[in-house]
Amino acid sequence: MSLAVMRPDGLHVEAVALADIAARFGTPCYVYSRAALTQAYTAYRDALQAHDLAGRSLICYAVKANSNLAILNLFARLGAGFDIVSGGELARVLAAGGAADKIVFSGVGKSRTEMRAALEAGIHCFNVESASELGQLNEVAGSLGCRAPVSLRVNPDVDAKTHPYISTGLKTAKFGVAFGDAFDLYRRAASLPHIAVKGIDCHIGSQLLDPAPAAEAADKVLALVDRLSAAGIALEHIDLGGGMGIQYHAAEPAPAASDYLAPMLARLAKRRENLVFEPGRSLVGNAGLLLTRVEVLKPGEEKHFAVVDAAMNDLMRPALYDAWHDILRVGADATASAQTRSYEIVGPVCESGDFLGHDRALALNEGDLLAILSAGAYGMAMASNYNSRPRAAEVMIDGNSMHLIRRREAVAELFALESMLPGENPSP
Ligand SMILES: *Cc1c(COP(=O)(O)O)cnc(C)c1O
Repeated sequence: MSLAVMRPDGLHVEAVALADIAARFGTPCYVYSRAALTQAYTAYRDALQAHDLAGRSLICYAVKANSNLAILNLFARLGAGFDIVSGGELARVLAAGGAADKIVFSGVGKSRTEMRAALEAGIHCFNVESASELGQLNEVAGSLGCRAPVSLRVNPDVDAKTHPYISTGLKTAKFGVAFGDAFDLYRRAASLPHIAVKGIDCHIGSQLLDPAPAAEAADKVLALVDRLSAAGIALEHIDLGGGMGIQYHAAEPAPAASDYLAPMLARLAKRRENLVFEPGRSLVGNAGLLLTRVEVLKPGEEKHFAVVDAAMNDLMRPALYDAWHDILRVGADATASAQTRSYEIVGPVCESGDFLGHDRALALNEGDLLAILSAGAYGMAMASNYNSRPRAAEVMIDGNSMHLIRRREAVAELFALESMLPGENPSP
């Protein structure tokens, strides 16, 4: 299912024209589809069910991909758990009605304050990433008179063959416990009074399109689970992380969830443990787009620029990873005055890295609307106020209704937390 559908009067998301969204809420604006979010979640769950695994699996949506309350709430209604990486995400999930006992807490640098908050909330499991963290968590749990449920995040040293910034399972990564150290650390964990060993976890990277690395990681993890079991450390659950890739380019299809997950799930179907998965991007990425308006067309000697009202502060992925997003005209027909040219689609931010797309063949007029596709994951979640730009509005489409799920920031809000030094002001 493609998110944006062309009708005679322009691109639509579900039954709503993108032009109507721009007219009502302005641009830049993130637009999500309830149906597409629901479909991505159910496709993941159905892939588990095809191996008879849905009943003992927890799908923990990775909140960092898109943490808007309406999206978290929608996944909570669908039965999802959540994978969080901070105390802020914990608070969001609870505010959105997520169940604490379906939360797993990942991350290499949890503070004691975050540990305490998660213990008090009663989360499902901490994914512990180092020996020091294990010791600190034991102390914090001790101070609260409880035991912390723990998985160790192991680093299986598998090459996920993705962008180096989103590859996390190699020996050189900061993430997880080195595979060779994991067995001894489990024995230590089992001996600590305020730690309850529950499971094992790994997450090897993001935007993975080849299922082989995840299956290889699963093999390594399962072998370790068996070794632990033989040593008297029986694990209740196995968490194989997230990372499934999505389609960013019309010409480069991504595998369906059922196909991507099949090799890994075939290995798990024979096991007895419960399972946890942490998909982020694959549940939201293709369910959102960024709607923007062309401000200025700037013909150049070498390149033609289309300066739009969205920028790297709204969608950082192109600047950060050199990522590709398909970009479509929202209007059905270009006016006769618009020639098709190869455009650099750029924002107004003062950085040469501020681009949203290179070399896009489009027929444009100033004032035209563009849809930047596949922007539901790591889009708004990474947005900043660089150049004192208010963050975009977010709208969720549900059939023929539009719901504003985050209003556009007001400029005054950008400096509302700041104060000036005491003393005299310069005379005017
Ligand atoms: C980011 C992250 C995820 C989600 O990754 P996606 O590629 O978005 O599916 C899952 N688990 C952990 C530990 C992460 O850091």
